[in-house]
Amino acid sequence: MKNVNSKEVSVLVSGPFNEPFDYVLEDKNTNFSVGQVVLVPFGKRKIVGIIIGDGTKTIPETKLKTVLQVYDLEPIPKPSIELMNFLASWYCVFKGLVLKMILSPIEAITSPDYEKVYKSNYPNENEINEFEKIKITYKRKLVLDFLLNFDIGKSQNDIIKHTGVSKAILRDMVQKNIIQEKKVFKNRNLDSNFLTNSKENKKNYDFLNLEQKFAVDRINDSIVNTKSDCFLLDGVTGSGKTETYFETVRTCLDQGKQVLILLPEIVLTPDWEKRFFQKFSFAPLVWNSEITKKKKKKIWLSALNGTAGVIVGARSALMIPISNLGLIIVDEEHEQAFKQEENVRYNARDMAIYRSKRSFAPIVLASATPSLETFYNAKKGKYVHLTLPKRATGATLPHIKLIDLSVHPADKGKWLSPLLLDEIESKLKNKDQTLLFLNRRGYAPLSICNSCGNKIKCVNCDTWLVEHRSKNILVCHHCGYSTIFENICKKCGAEGQIKAYGPGIERIEEEINETFPQARSIVLSSDTMNNHKILSETLSKIKNNKVDIVIGTQMIAKGHDFPNLKLVGIVDSDVGLSGGDLRASERTFQVLQQVSGRSGRHSEKEEDKGIVLIQTYDSKNPIINAIARNNRNEFFDKELMSRQYAKMPPYSRLASIILSSRLERKLETFSSDLLKLAPLFKNVKIFGPAPAPIYFLRGRYRRRFLIKSDKNVNIQDVILNWIKKIKTPNNVKLTIDIDPFSFM
Ligand code: ADP
Ligand code: ZN
Repeated sequence: MKNVNSKEVSVLVSGPFNEPFDYVLEDKNTNFSVGQVVLVPFGKRKIVGIIIGDGTKTIPETKLKTVLQVYDLEPIPKPSIELMNFLASWYCVFKGLVLKMILSPIEAITSPDYEKVYKSNYPNENEINEFEKIKITYKRKLVLDFLLNFDIGKSQNDIIKHTGVSKAILRDMVQKNIIQEKKVFKNRNLDSNFLTNSKENKKNYDFLNLEQKFAVDRINDSIVNTKSDCFLLDGVTGSGKTETYFETVRTCLDQGKQVLILLPEIVLTPDWEKRFFQKFSFAPLVWNSEITKKKKKKIWLSALNGTAGVIVGARSALMIPISNLGLIIVDEEHEQAFKQEENVRYNARDMAIYRSKRSFAPIVLASATPSLETFYNAKKGKYVHLTLPKRATGATLPHIKLIDLSVHPADKGKWLSPLLLDEIESKLKNKDQTLLFLNRRGYAPLSICNSCGNKIKCVNCDTWLVEHRSKNILVCHHCGYSTIFENICKKCGAEGQIKAYGPGIERIEEEINETFPQARSIVLSSDTMNNHKILSETLSKIKNNKVDIVIGTQMIAKGHDFPNLKLVGIVDSDVGLSGGDLRASERTFQVLQQVSGRSGRHSEKEEDKGIVLIQTYDSKNPIINAIARNNRNEFFDKELMSRQYAKMPPYSRLASIILSSRLERKLETFSSDLLKLAPLFKNVKIFGPAPAPIYFLRGRYRRRFLIKSDKNVNIQDVILNWIKKIKTPNNVKLTIDIDPFSFM
């Protein structure tokens, strides 16, 4: 890394800024590197930032402010700085805001852990004896003898460990001037056992099957030769993707390099950690929204100083400045959770690919149902496509059947077809488990007053309130607004007339309890499983056969392995197909495939095969049929053709501009003003400003422009030049969303 020799330096501060500011360094600070973290005065405040180069010399040195502090840390690594620059320009956000995410938690920098270190005031034993005034007791002597060997002192913990004296003794010795106490910065020598551990646990990988071995060898080759290949590790659930990438993690550690594993938050379960531990005999460093600041500090510092071996985290872990990165894994790469939808809108999977390039490290995208764009890139040869075609345990794939609800309808006011109920009954008899999947939380998605027809809506949004009968409340799933369900219509005043329409999972549970009162059922959704502890207890209950019927939302689609599950019933496969959003079919396909993959993961015999029953009113639908035929590539090819026909990504580029305001009139005026200034280019199409599908959300009115361009157009420039032409009023918020996922 380039050294900055001049006393004037250019500092990017964390906050809404793109350009750096010049500062001077005090004389005592010489020879600093790019990436060094500093504290600088900024207006009336003090802000952290990083040195990004020499000063610009555009302002006389005497006018420059002085850097207040240079933190005693390794510099932020170059690939992290490159990621910051690229992410900021790709997503049209301030570099300083990306920097803020990198320098987080800020406490790791500003209030690192200190430890007390003690040093003897006597260079040798003889001198001690001269001071007769101070009695050298047995305990004091133990401490002094121990410290005799350490000129630079020893930490409080070490002293206590070796001598067995108490803190009080040490305090007392400091008071009597026998020893001195110093506070030192602890991050330099964080426990560094992670990187060496794997060698001791080296196992051979002979148990892997041919395809798995091929994949491991191919990825290992890139790790060892520092090639930044992008791999798609593509295999049905249970084909051993995790097992396969674990072997590459081992290789990377053996190379003395660090590994970053990104997982959607929801997959990052104690189960996953346990499995990792069993494999490697050490715990990975887990970075998610639930861990404490203290742990975050430790992970951040040990990532930066190169001692953290394996960091596994949700999308924000991508921002951790890992100094010696040798491999990135993105598991369940198709997951929407990798896209951050607030503040800085970025896609962690896409940025991880960039980060891997800059780090000369390979990246592995793993999925049973890759996203369409990843599939497309693999097909074009941009990514290396590694396939694991069969279930590693030898289990057969489930048998999938459609139930046409117009031919075999459920009873009135019920949601499960007799065909599905029969199958559940036979599984109950065999003591096999059933999973019923419906991606709708709560009791019913819609409540209507029978006497006036009023649909009960959210006060902040244009959405219907969802009844949650277990808690006796109505909830808005968009803004979280909730109110007690009183069963009095606010519009006409009728009492007891509010009726539930459509099913949510609570209602399915009710139907199951009525039909099979002897069965042990459980509801798995983000409402019931609101922390890791409950979730992991429930998951082990299911694994240990303490549950007969699991009723779950999308939450259940992910990664879990239930050995006794033999039947999956999809209550409503039509949900999600009709939404006006680009990825609606893709997502429905993925979820249905993932859920189907839960069935019969361990059944080896044909007659023991897992079964998937899919209820639908739309039995001719190509997506549902592709699932029924278990033909993913057929679905992808069809979907790609339709995208190409409609000139949609990956055959074009998309971006949106979202405008929102609490004041409807301001929003309307500004959006039509902006429209008047819309650029006219042959290869750029601008749609809108359309009211967002939910026009009124969280108390704000919202409109959006959708910008579609040819692939070779710099869509960011087009947008930035456009919005530059007019000042956004204070009470309107303008957000740019590049490669949008959400169209709400
Ligand atoms: P995926 O990540 O693709 O869903 P996993 O790696 O979780 O698959 O593997 C599924 C199950 O199969 C796990 O219990 C795993 O230990 C086992 N497994 C994976 N590969 C093999 C293999 N080659 N031989 C035997 N069992 C395997
Ligand atoms: Zn709401």
